[in-house]
Amino acid sequence: MSIIKKTMLRCDRCGKVVEAPESVASLGLPPFPEGGLAGWIQTDGDHHLCADCARPYLAKKSEMERELKHLAGIETIEIDL
Ligand SMILES: [Zn+2]
Repeated sequence: MSIIKKTMLRCDRCGKVVEAPESVASLGLPPFPEGGLAGWIQTDGDHHLCADCARPYLAKKSEMERELKHLAGIETIEIDL
């Protein structure tokens, strides 16, 4: 009998589950590599979001960081080149 160990990541928001390479689990997270885990993020200790859930999370996080800078009197100008 053989025992096969797999590492799975589960999105804490929508519940999507993907198999992760063992190297990801042993190296720590993130950033996640390309491939099946592309776009996945770790939000804190053991919480993860899939690519679909990460996009609105990161957009809101960025918006909140800009607002905190504004409230602290830090003004920045963003230019796309
Ligand atoms: Zn998700």
